[in-house]
Amino acid sequence: MPDSLAAAFRRAEAELRDRFGHAGFRPIQRRAVLSVLAGRDTLAVLPTGGGKSVCFQVPAVVTGGLTVVVSPLIALMQDQVSAALARGIPAGSLHSAQDSARQQAVWEDVREGRLRLLYLAPERLRRVAEILAHHAIRPVRLVVDEAHCITEWGHDFRPTYRVLRMARHRLGWPPALALTGSATPDVRQDVVRTLGLGARGRRCDLHLASFDRQNLWLGVCPVPDEATRLRHLVRLVRADDRLALVYAQTRATTEALARALGRAGVRAAPYHAGLPAPRRRSTLEAFLEDELEAV
Ligand code: ADP
Repeated sequence: MPDSLAAAFRRAEAELRDRFGHAGFRPIQRRAVLSVLAGRDTLAVLPTGGGKSVCFQVPAVVTGGLTVVVSPLIALMQDQVSAALARGIPAGSLHSAQDSARQQAVWEDVREGRLRLLYLAPERLRRVAEILAHHAIRPVRLVVDEAHCITEWGHDFRPTYRVLRMARHRLGWPPALALTGSATPDVRQDVVRTLGLGARGRRCDLHLASFDRQNLWLGVCPVPDEATRLRHLVRLVRADDRLALVYAQTRATTEALARALGRAGVRAAPYHAGLPAPRRRSTLEAFLEDELEAV
């Protein structure tokens, strides 16, 4: 590893500790951050909860400049912007739910070079890229979150993700980081092609997190009759830490199972679309608070 990259990575580790309060990078984050800091195109596939935002928020602070982040949902953007601001990272977003005064304030921050992270919906990117080009502002990096939205193979295909390559060109072809929690080989290929990852003589690194979760076990347990089925279920639910979600075919079955588990000493409640919303909400809260063991 070149000295300059090693030094940048040490700064990244310090930022992770000081701003994010994490002792160290997870293995996939470490590899992704190294690629990003090296200025390479990068595709990182991490399961939900794997810590995707660290992969670009930390480099955004370390390298400075403006990182443009394409994100599919306003709520997601707002969450990330407030989290970044709480960590002292200058961040903003431009989206349709803002009034024009707010948008102007964000543009002012962009023009003055104060922002490190600018979040946008894909629909906005082209227009924003034009304005940035007009002001001769060249982002240091383009991040595409939920990158599987690019591909028609994916389940939440979003046509405007298709224009990203053109917008990337308009931005001055900065290094790009694509992040997703779900990418089959077909989807991966499509993301790489659509964003032009690795094109124009640039190297593209692919980082795949392990989806092998040691705590998950998948099995089939044959039962001769309903009474045995229930006995097995109770035994499974009472094992280990006793937190369980039990799926059943019908609403009536979920209610019968919740009663049967209750008789076996398990704190259980049914949950289905036929229950009033307040009841569903209180059941969810009770489960999250560990007051219920099985739903
Ligand atoms: P994703 O966007 O991949 O779903 P997030 O970026 O929201 O994931 O992170 C998921 C959780 O993991 C958060 O609670 C975050 O604080 C935590 N996390 C991320 N990186 C680390 C790390 N290196 N060490 C410990 N916790 C981490």
